[in-house]
Amino acid sequence: MASNIISMPVSIYALGGLGEVGKNCYCIENEQSIIIIDAGVRFPGTEYPGIDYIIPDWVHLKNNRNKVKALFITHGHEDHIGGIPFLVQSINIPIIYAPKLAAALIKNRLEEQKILSRVNIVEYDENTEVRVDQFKVRFFRVTHSIPDSFGMCIDTSEGRIVTTGDFKVDLTPIGPDFELAKLTKMGLEGVDLLLSDSTNAEIEGFTPSEKNVLSSIEEIFDSIMGRIIISTFSSNISRIQQICEVAVAHNRKIAIIGRSMEKAVEISRSFGYIKVPDSSIIQAEDIKLYKNNELLILCTGSQGEPMAALSRVANGEHKDLTIIPGDTVVFSSSAIPGNGLMIKRIVNTLTRAGADVITNSILSDIHSSGHASRQELRLVLKLVNPKYFMPAHGEYRMLRQHAEIAQTLGIPKENCFILDNGDCLVLSKKKVTRGYPVEHGNIYIDGTDINGLVPTVMVDRRILTDDGMLAIAIGVDTKSNTLIVPPTLFTRGLIKQGSSEALERCRMLVEQEVLDALKGKPSFADLKNKIKTVAGAFIYAQTRRHPMIIPLIMSKGE
Ligand SMILES: [Zn+2]
Ligand SMILES: [Zn+2]
Repeated sequence: MASNIISMPVSIYALGGLGEVGKNCYCIENEQSIIIIDAGVRFPGTEYPGIDYIIPDWVHLKNNRNKVKALFITHGHEDHIGGIPFLVQSINIPIIYAPKLAAALIKNRLEEQKILSRVNIVEYDENTEVRVDQFKVRFFRVTHSIPDSFGMCIDTSEGRIVTTGDFKVDLTPIGPDFELAKLTKMGLEGVDLLLSDSTNAEIEGFTPSEKNVLSSIEEIFDSIMGRIIISTFSSNISRIQQICEVAVAHNRKIAIIGRSMEKAVEISRSFGYIKVPDSSIIQAEDIKLYKNNELLILCTGSQGEPMAALSRVANGEHKDLTIIPGDTVVFSSSAIPGNGLMIKRIVNTLTRAGADVITNSILSDIHSSGHASRQELRLVLKLVNPKYFMPAHGEYRMLRQHAEIAQTLGIPKENCFILDNGDCLVLSKKKVTRGYPVEHGNIYIDGTDINGLVPTVMVDRRILTDDGMLAIAIGVDTKSNTLIVPPTLFTRGLIKQGSSEALERCRMLVEQEVLDALKGKPSFADLKNKIKTVAGAFIYAQTRRHPMIIPLIMSKGE
């Protein structure tokens, strides 16, 4: 059968997910076709003011739109599915293959944005085999923090590629087992290139099983008599499932606050992933009808996000829930790097309102995450025994550590490839080499505009947050070329000791500059430039800052 397949080198590259945790998007391409694995978002934290998401720039896919044949989704986490609404509006994706839970989450999202009808979503499971032109794709179940997580095996004319997707090796999972036997078989048959999850490559040992986490949840429920409020990611379905089931066993009713959490629980319950009777779920507005020890409240906002449920509750702005002394708030997810300050702020606010706050249980421990630690990474490398290795899903130092692990297991250094987004590997006749990079980048999404923000808007926002703003208004009679309203200065975020005096000096300098300039019949652009230059230099000399300077010229005449 192999004889009627024409040899075509295969390129492997990421448009997102390398050098970062988030916006995963890996592509496998030959002359005929491109298949995409995952289309995620990254949450920018406080690093990019006002930005909701960062998604990959799909320019390479747009330029090769006729070759894009299918999108495969490994599991339903936002860093793997969150970019789909943007991707399907940018290019035609003929078909999306996703496991059951991910498919439901994607459909829900596309329905909300009224674009579901454009998209063809097909569910797969561990028995599915898909052929896309020359690529033969099969799936194996892995264990992770959301049910229905898969790795993929892609057979090509040039060799076999295996990608783990996100995983940990949980031997006592909540839900089906990791299909280790299948992985072993693929390894025995021969795997040319392995891509594997690097998120916890810096952590030695084994990531604790979800079953261990269960006993910690039980301890919390056994020891607390007041209301229990647990904040976690709405995507952490396995965790939510355990918390809910323990709550039911402790005769507590469950109230859910936060739209994304409500949706996630509703969808997971409808598929039987979260098993809780209807009678245990109550509406948030009915919280007041129950005694303190009869309640579990689940809410979003574990990263301190200002708009999420927990922040609103902490600030006393939520209509259904106010913190009272005796409440216990449990953070059930570790801080995403960069969110530490926001979390500290919310912990303080909650404590001031009288709550006990638990941030250091096993629930908030990075070790109990859904990602494999070093021993599990070694195990997978041993079973798959790939010829070439490409660490995936992680910041540079995680990828680096993962590559070093592979080398200690005997994979030659020259066969381990630490890539950046856009870097390209070429698999040809079972050999992997580096190829030409493809175009890539970030798109910043503010709201739901699929086009994203141009980078200059981002630069402006950075300047405004870091250095503030100075607006300078003047009035000019363009007929007589005279200054009729002297400069008025407004500043925001540029406050300095004794600044009113400094601002007056700045004002005088600007006025002199404008008067001089007006002698030569300047254009508005000239005037604006002169104002910017003189004010900018003065402010920099005084404050060592480069605020955004906005000249406003009102004109009379013509
Ligand atoms: Zn994941
Ligand atoms: Zn992920």
